[in-house]
Amino acid sequence: MSQYELIIIGAGPVGLAAGIEAKRVGLRFLIVEAGTICQSLVEYPSGMRFYSPADELAIGGYPFPTPHDEKPTRELALNYYRKVASAENLPIHTYERVERLERTAHGFVVHTQRLPHRQPARYETQAVLLCTGIWGTPRQLTVPGANLPHVFTRYDEPIRFWRKRVLIVGSGNSAGEAAIRLADADAQVWLAVEPPTLEQCRFRPFILREVLLRVEEQRITPLTEAHLERILPDCVELRCAQGVESLPVDFVLALIGLQPDRRLIEPLGVPLGADGKPIHDPNTYETPVSGLFVAGALSQDGFIYIARERVRYAIAAIAARVRS
Ligand SMILES: Cc1cc2nc3c(=O)[nH]c(=O)nc-3n(C[C@H](O)[C@H](O)[C@H](O)COP(=O)(O)OP(=O)(O)OC[C@H]3O[C@@H](n4cnc5c(N)ncnc54)[C@H](O)[C@@H]3O)c2cc1C
Repeated sequence: MSQYELIIIGAGPVGLAAGIEAKRVGLRFLIVEAGTICQSLVEYPSGMRFYSPADELAIGGYPFPTPHDEKPTRELALNYYRKVASAENLPIHTYERVERLERTAHGFVVHTQRLPHRQPARYETQAVLLCTGIWGTPRQLTVPGANLPHVFTRYDEPIRFWRKRVLIVGSGNSAGEAAIRLADADAQVWLAVEPPTLEQCRFRPFILREVLLRVEEQRITPLTEAHLERILPDCVELRCAQGVESLPVDFVLALIGLQPDRRLIEPLGVPLGADGKPIHDPNTYETPVSGLFVAGALSQDGFIYIARERVRYAIAAIAARVRS
């Protein structure tokens, strides 16, 4: 008999929701997490505010109260998920990264390394549910100089950029929001976007409004139809609708999206979609590799209110499988 019926990999909001459901249906399970609980949220920018209202971030039926029904900040969300994980007393091994999944006749062997000493461990399980999200592997720029030490793919405190010249690259909400927050922290901000206008970026309406306001105040300089040529230690060379620029900058912030980490799934031969996410059954969330399931941001469910419901389908399918 396997040590576990289920191993859940990742203790983000969806891994925690999966754990609560696994506990409720009586599965013998363990959650293995590379960092602390909700490690991705820990790494979000400080003070970042979710777009969803609190009730859409809540899991396990635990209410998520916020003052005046505000949309929660990262800090409030971390506090909430910590309380839920403690209240449920979920079996979670934190600071233990899953390095490899090995298929066996009865399921899988999950190979891990415990931090900080990289001590190896292994667990036998009948099923695996991958809740590893996509936060851990940001897309990187591919131009020469992208690996220079002043080029970042994330930031924590906007004040780090106080009175510095920063080129932000990206046309999505993260880039728009970073431009706003860095401009408000007295950085000199250029925002390099691919579309011909800011209105054509993938910004939510309130982000677009705030960006345009700062453009008007000359606190953000937009560079549209921008294509980076190369990054040098003290400047960036790029082509854009405003001409060919050699822009003197102190930092480059490339916020050009996230992609799934393929290291666990590819060796098992899991077929991937065009977005790099594992193909899975839309009802059971099982991949074509029998016994291997996905949920949350690693599946197509990018919003927590959708993923928290659908992870129950996966747990129901896993319970049915291990009991058959
Ligand atoms: C800036 C930003 C704003 C967002 N705003 C909203 C919003 O308003 N509303 C909304 O619904 N969603 C929002 N999202 C998306 C939401 O945060 C994600 O959908 C949610 O965090 C996904 O949860 P998850 O548990 O699938 O993945 P994650 O939260 O990314 O958790 C994955 C976990 O897996 C762990 N892990 C990864 N690899 C391994 C490994 N090999 N071994 C062990 N553990 C591993 C990680 O450390 C992490 O803790 C936002 C995302 C971002 C980036």
